[in-house]
Amino acid sequence: MKGEVRGMIPDADAGRESQSTEGAFGGYRRPSFPVFDFHAHFPVEEDFAKKDEYIRRFGREKWEKIAREADRLQEDWRQAWSFLRPDTEREPLEALMARWAAEVDRYGLDGIAFVTGGGNDLLARILGSEPRRFVGFAHHSPEKPDAAEELRRAVTELGLRGYKILAPLLEGSLADERLYPVWQAAEDLEVPILIHFGILGGGGGIGNAPNIDPLVIHDVAKAFPDVTFVIPHFGCGYTRELLQLAWACPNVSVDTSGNNEWVHWFPYELDLKKLFWLFYETVGPRRIIFGSDSSWFPRGFAHRYLLDQIRACRELRIGEDDMALIFGGNAKRLLKLDDRAVPGERG
Ligand SMILES: [Zn+2]
Repeated sequence: MKGEVRGMIPDADAGRESQSTEGAFGGYRRPSFPVFDFHAHFPVEEDFAKKDEYIRRFGREKWEKIAREADRLQEDWRQAWSFLRPDTEREPLEALMARWAAEVDRYGLDGIAFVTGGGNDLLARILGSEPRRFVGFAHHSPEKPDAAEELRRAVTELGLRGYKILAPLLEGSLADERLYPVWQAAEDLEVPILIHFGILGGGGGIGNAPNIDPLVIHDVAKAFPDVTFVIPHFGCGYTRELLQLAWACPNVSVDTSGNNEWVHWFPYELDLKKLFWLFYETVGPRRIIFGSDSSWFPRGFAHRYLLDQIRACRELRIGEDDMALIFGGNAKRLLKLDDRAVPGERG
């Protein structure tokens, strides 16, 4: 892979020799290939749970009750995974940027893509602080009347390199032809679209919505074969549906981020290794993209997700070149980081 994709950090290649030495991260081995995290969230306040809308309709008391329950469920989950509680004190933005930059260096990442970060303008400001380490996605509702124009602005003026959608938060159908100008903008700009389907949030989060099933974009993906649609978290509970979609649409890829807590709900046995194998045999190594879904501190980069995923691939005896694609090469190709060209400015 060396020479094919350039490191984002200027002197990334200088340390390549030492990357193969053991004990690089608290006793863990560094991967033998560059790692790029395609899916992280910059930890600023966002309303992913539609809090304001809920409170307006049903009142604050009910919201607080639901939030308390969700917090309890999520604390159970953190305990099971040995994750510390997220910092509750709001850190200044500059401090958070510095912390994330330090994480990228600490784990020897080639770079990290923040798929959300407080809106397009704020995220662009965050990226500006670390252009060699951070990359970002536009994130606004495709149902906004000016969504296509906003995507064009976010890419050509703000330098964002993809478009993130949270499908469970949308009201209408993602298949609606009224949204076609948005997909057309992505095609013109040559940026990938990352669409979250399936359950959203931790325990107590969103379990159903009009666009919960990834198959809803079947006709959209067929109508825009030049747009790469990446569906995160192995389908996030909709694995069979995502495999079916990806089988039908060669422009659909999968990202591997998240904790996959839903694997236990299947009528057949499913674990991380099986997930990798199902997608590897259905779509091959060029359409599987490593992500972590990291966001908050003190956890920072969710290193154990990377370790678990590498282990799954190694145990499946996935070859070195394919692992290099999955853990970094594919992300850098989709985000056009090979030559650092600005998307939307074709020569
Ligand atoms: Zn995410």
